[in-house]
Amino acid sequence: MDTKILLPEDRIPKQWYNIIPDMPGPLAPVIHPGTLQPVTPDDLLPLFPIGLIEQEVSPNRWIDIPDEVRDIYRLWRPSPLFRAHRLEKALGTPAKIYYKYEGGSPAGSHKPNTAIPQAYYNKIAGTKRIASETGAGQWGSSIALACQMFGLECTVYMVKVSFNQKPYRKSMMQLWGAEVIASPSDRTNAGRAILAEHPDSNGSLGIAISEAVEDAATREDTRYALGSVLNHVCLHQTIIGLEAKEQLAIAGDYPDVVIGCHGGGSNFAGIGFPFVADKANGKNIRIVAMEPTSCPTLTKGVYEFDYGDTAKMAPISKMYTLGHDFMPPGIHAGGLRYHGASPLVSQLVHAGVVEALAVPQNACFEAAVLFSKSEGIIPAPESSHAIRGAIDEALKAKEEGKERVILFNLSGHGHVDMTAYDAYFSGKLEDYEYPEEAIKESLTHLPKVSF
Ligand SMILES: *Cc1c(COP(=O)(O)O)cnc(C)c1O
Repeated sequence: MDTKILLPEDRIPKQWYNIIPDMPGPLAPVIHPGTLQPVTPDDLLPLFPIGLIEQEVSPNRWIDIPDEVRDIYRLWRPSPLFRAHRLEKALGTPAKIYYKYEGGSPAGSHKPNTAIPQAYYNKIAGTKRIASETGAGQWGSSIALACQMFGLECTVYMVKVSFNQKPYRKSMMQLWGAEVIASPSDRTNAGRAILAEHPDSNGSLGIAISEAVEDAATREDTRYALGSVLNHVCLHQTIIGLEAKEQLAIAGDYPDVVIGCHGGGSNFAGIGFPFVADKANGKNIRIVAMEPTSCPTLTKGVYEFDYGDTAKMAPISKMYTLGHDFMPPGIHAGGLRYHGASPLVSQLVHAGVVEALAVPQNACFEAAVLFSKSEGIIPAPESSHAIRGAIDEALKAKEEGKERVILFNLSGHGHVDMTAYDAYFSGKLEDYEYPEEAIKESLTHLPKVSF
């Protein structure tokens, strides 16, 4: 019985799957934060290369993966699909649990799946330098790696509290040649304005995004890169689900339920979108996004137009949102703290095509520990939300005495997140449900847009 299902290198998919033509209805327009009118491709050219702007709205179901990108994918792709025999045994479940492991990339997560093509399309468009932001450093290290591979300069604005408290991801970025700047910084108007008012500011993702966008918008040689949420990011990540489908076919199985953790939506889209297409063609399959109760965007947010960042400089999208001034509680160790969500994932949730569930962090760490003990791999805290979802499905199958095939995405390893595990083991993690009142309050600040 196979535990690990590998595809040969020449089976790395040659095309990404674009879900846009298969969406249940037309996409809502993206709105300019200044004019409150729909953005045009020209509005986006100072920030993104044309190749990515085209993908953002492409009507083509299949989009070729450039050979230069596949060559680098080869470093860790095709990624393995594992059957979690030992976890099944530990749970005593009749369910079959499969997981796709994305932690084998150089940066340790799924994020290089999009960082590499983003750097590639920038390179061929003549970009010399990329400015981006990072919270804890997963995206920053991935874009640093990608820029290194294509000979681009890279500047990453890193939220100051992480810059000081999580130095290892910073070191990874520097190792791959990036310049890492603690945000807020004195390099941008946005940063200087914050520092003038709050010299001791710890920073936030919203502020770091504003600094990176300003940097890119004000320099001819520089463009911006985002690691989640956008349509082209979800597109690049579909390589996960496309490979997984082929690997499951080798195992002679097809999933009853597909599960991914959800922060901005990219790894969930990656594992889920290729199966959404099957569902539209009549397959009986559930596709479930797992999010934290401390940042319950899909389960407690509203499906409305909102800004992508706190400083209201980023485009406005129709998505599930908790409000752009949502302040994630610092007590949460498990990542996944963005106020919004991918517009594509949001539309699918709204249409009832995919489901969303929220789980508290202690239950996720408990699942991660059981997973590490049975399967060996130490999951990223973000990924533990997907593991919780898979374990709950397997326990339900046990209760019902039914077989069930479960597929989940293990989006990354947790080797650089051991302080979060320390906090869990020393009983310092609190479960936290974001209060309804606070959500209601921040939802009163949505932009007035109707399209
Ligand atoms: C960034 C990250 C996530 C969350 O981002 P999505 O865009 O929702 O996928 C999940 N898991 C890992 C390991 C990450 O680094």
